[in-house]
Amino acid sequence: MNAEIIAVGSELLLGQIANTNAKYISSQLSELGINVYYHTVIGDNAKRLKQAITLAESRADCIIFSGGLGPTKDDLTKETIANHLQLSLVTDHEALGQIEAFFTQRQMPMTANNRKQALVLDGCEVLANHHGMAPGMFLTYHNKTYILLPGPPKELEPMFQYEAKPKLAELIHDGGVIRSHVMRFFGIGEAALETELDTLLETQTNPTLAPLASDGEVTLRITAKAQSDAEAEQLIQHKVQEVQAIVGHYQYGIDDDSLASKLVDVLRHNHLTISAAESLTAGLFQSEIAEIPGAGDVLIGGFVTYTVNAKTHLLGIPSSLIDTYGVVSAECAVAMAQAAQAKTGATIGVGLTGAAGPTAHGDEPAGSIWIAFVIGDQLPVTKHLQLSGMRNTNRLRTVKYAYDAILKQ
Ligand code: ATP
Ligand code: MG
Repeated sequence: MNAEIIAVGSELLLGQIANTNAKYISSQLSELGINVYYHTVIGDNAKRLKQAITLAESRADCIIFSGGLGPTKDDLTKETIANHLQLSLVTDHEALGQIEAFFTQRQMPMTANNRKQALVLDGCEVLANHHGMAPGMFLTYHNKTYILLPGPPKELEPMFQYEAKPKLAELIHDGGVIRSHVMRFFGIGEAALETELDTLLETQTNPTLAPLASDGEVTLRITAKAQSDAEAEQLIQHKVQEVQAIVGHYQYGIDDDSLASKLVDVLRHNHLTISAAESLTAGLFQSEIAEIPGAGDVLIGGFVTYTVNAKTHLLGIPSSLIDTYGVVSAECAVAMAQAAQAKTGATIGVGLTGAAGPTAHGDEPAGSIWIAFVIGDQLPVTKHLQLSGMRNTNRLRTVKYAYDAILKQ
């Protein structure tokens, strides 16, 4: 099955809002293994919407509409589809009851156009709206599936997730199941991962493999279709092993893991604690750890030492060291890590220093960054990065590289 998403709303074309509904629906469809070939955006105009529907019918099995189900004149999605398919609109009494109850409860008079919200395409399955008034619709007609969803994301997302998605899954799978897992990688780019997995990607059928890059990480979604959960899991596990045999070195986690959550897991498991002295990241390293439940068992606290003065006064780093090597140096990063460890009593001390950009720091080019850490009484470990992103991207990447380096130790 392949699908096309038609987002309706002039505000999308005017650039007032981004088409996040299409992004959401697309990612949900990929979990079902449904290919999306087109995203269409159309203004609140019946004639052009009709043309878009005709075109979509010529190339998609399933057309999903977002927006235009509300009470006002510019909301014309279902009217246009009804007209196009020569179907009438009928009142859904459950939806009407819900709308009436809403107005009664607020002691507000109900205007006539609100009744319009309870109209649905004749013969459709109604998708309940638990977060608003306009019901959604699911209709299979002449071998095409039409799904109509309201525009506001807080209504559309749960409606798709809980009402439309199970119906779609049923439609494509004759009682089968679809399961997917996400493998998470760091330290390898999307192109390099695809090259490594070339053969696996070219021969994929079931499970399917979908690589995706974001925020300096790469994920690989593995989706399997099978007759039972156990069978689907088995197919996925087998594929995971094949992938790991090739690029397992770069994998840090699965599904909802993040580098920070993995670090917290590992530290907790080994009864280790951590502290950091941060220059360019100014607390980001510790803040992201603090976002993970259970961080209190491992994160002791630390230092934001942005200036030379802060490094010498708060951490006690000798000015002579900084005069000799500069702040963007392995020596300074190690001194910061050792000070963080010594001053807090943490098992692991981390030092992060560098030129975040956009300008160079003395002789050090923008993006030149040093990471250092000491674990217990082991020798310090250092890592140099030469990043090329924007300032804040470099700061975020530094934090991820630091987590990854410690995890790999
Ligand atoms: P309502 O009953 O709220 O009018 P509706 O189904 O008629 O809902 P629209 O009027 O098209 O939907 O859009 C309502 C709001 O939903 C928009 O102002 C916008 O904030 C949001 N919205 C609409 N379409 C999208 C989209 N494609 N992506 C993200 N947000 C959207
Ligand atoms: Mg509207």
